[in-house]
Amino acid sequence: MVAVENLIAKIRDIPDFPTEGVLFKDITPLLGDGHAFQGAVEGLAEPFRGERIDAVVAIEARGYILGAPVAAHLGVGFVPVRKVGKLPYHTFRVEYSLEYGSAIVEMHRDGLQPGQRVLVIDDVLATGGTLAAAAQLVKHAGATVAGMAVLIELDFLRGREAIPGHRIHSLIHY
Ligand code: AMP
Repeated sequence: MVAVENLIAKIRDIPDFPTEGVLFKDITPLLGDGHAFQGAVEGLAEPFRGERIDAVVAIEARGYILGAPVAAHLGVGFVPVRKVGKLPYHTFRVEYSLEYGSAIVEMHRDGLQPGQRVLVIDDVLATGGTLAAAAQLVKHAGATVAGMAVLIELDFLRGREAIPGHRIHSLIHY
């Protein structure tokens, strides 16, 4: 298991990206380091290894990079949540607020079965809107969010408060 310090060392801060005032957490140096990438995937999956998880749900696009290997690591299926209009089959749809305006995300209606226990993965928990929308999609499918795991949680944005009642596992806190 890789130490958290070794993951932190591979995250690059980019000021004022994509807009002024945002300190963007760039995870591409971490992804580019095999040891750190493997450690991040194992670290995200770790608390859920001993329990029943039936599927991993992750959010386009950086959520996929971590969610897909976590699903394979746990030996369960992967279900993508995408921006509106990208998925080809029948979907559930959720609209949620962003800092400016709103966004719509979708998940295939047959992606999850009722009663399944789901792990939701994303790269960064900021305001919590994205994870809350993913949780709503899981609920629409009649499945249960067993937990959520993120590589980075921006504590000062208090995103957890947008997703009350969920177990959230964060590898790195800022
Ligand atoms: P939120 O819905 O506010 O929790 O935002 C989470 C989503 O926005 C994640 O999927 C991240 O990819 C992205 N995000 C938000 N803030 C940052 C940040 N400071 N650095 C990198 N990604 C971010």
